[in-house]
Amino acid sequence: MSGILDGKRLLVTGVITEQSLGFGVAKYAQEQGADVVLTGFGRLSLVERIAKKLPKPAPVVELDATDPEQLAGLADKVREHVDGIDGVLHAIAFAPPGALGGNFLNTTWEDVAKAVEVSTFSYKSLAVAALPLMENGGSIVGLDFDAQQAWPVYDWMGVAKAGLEAVNRYLARDLGPKGIRVNLISAGPQRTMAAKSIPGFEAFEQAWTKRAPLGWSLTDSEPVAKACAALLSDLFPATSGEIIHVDGGFHAVGVERTEDVSTGQ
Ligand code: NAP
Repeated sequence: MSGILDGKRLLVTGVITEQSLGFGVAKYAQEQGADVVLTGFGRLSLVERIAKKLPKPAPVVELDATDPEQLAGLADKVREHVDGIDGVLHAIAFAPPGALGGNFLNTTWEDVAKAVEVSTFSYKSLAVAALPLMENGGSIVGLDFDAQQAWPVYDWMGVAKAGLEAVNRYLARDLGPKGIRVNLISAGPQRTMAAKSIPGFEAFEQAWTKRAPLGWSLTDSEPVAKACAALLSDLFPATSGEIIHVDGGFHAVGVERTEDVSTGQ
């Protein structure tokens, strides 16, 4: 059977559990014919264990996306497994506890700087580190949480995501002439490690299940994986600098549903 990613070589970051959105993308991409190389941050043996749960065990290379030395060495490490790449998934975010949870007015610059360094600036850093592997062009995809409005508890991570949306546009501007498309998937809430570290995250879960016109699963990341795979494939050859919502339609409507979407009543 042919898949939409047949022959594509992909670099996927951000896998730490089977719930990680990066894991869902790696799994679906392999099912669609891609060769996948994972990056792991710090706890490499854990990432290697999760990598074995993919349909085809994937090699793991170490990457702290804030470490200039590791970024500079990334291309050589990836070349030990594939001779180049056609696509990259950025699935990296972190904010210190003081930057989340409703303390927006008192967060220190140090905490804000860390959140932006890991969650925003790393998108540019990863793209630049991967460039030597993408001589024939390709596709870079990042994972966003809608930053057009202020949310409860999301605080400075919301600011970091607003920055990510801007970085996406500037990367699209600068990498387009190299034949590289750069796009974000704006995902609805999923119960991953990163999400569980946000105190009060249940507020999003309740809002989404009540408001998303299509309904929304907090534990099924396949819709996000499919959209990422489509952007990493050849199916969007003229799309860059875009933000595609995979959120059950939540962003398009202002109030809760009055009917139960599962029954249509
Ligand atoms: P996750 O499974 O916890 O993945 C986050 C990953 O980022 C982890 O693998 C983490 O590694 C890694 N990371 C943190 N600092 C790093 C660094 N300096 N260098 C390299 N990697 C680093 O959570 P996730 O929800 O799948 O998050 C993936 C992306 O999806 C994030 O950008 C997140 O904001 C976005 N997103 C998530 C949701 C949601 O509701 N879950 C919704 C929309 C968008 P360690 O765990 O080892 O620290």
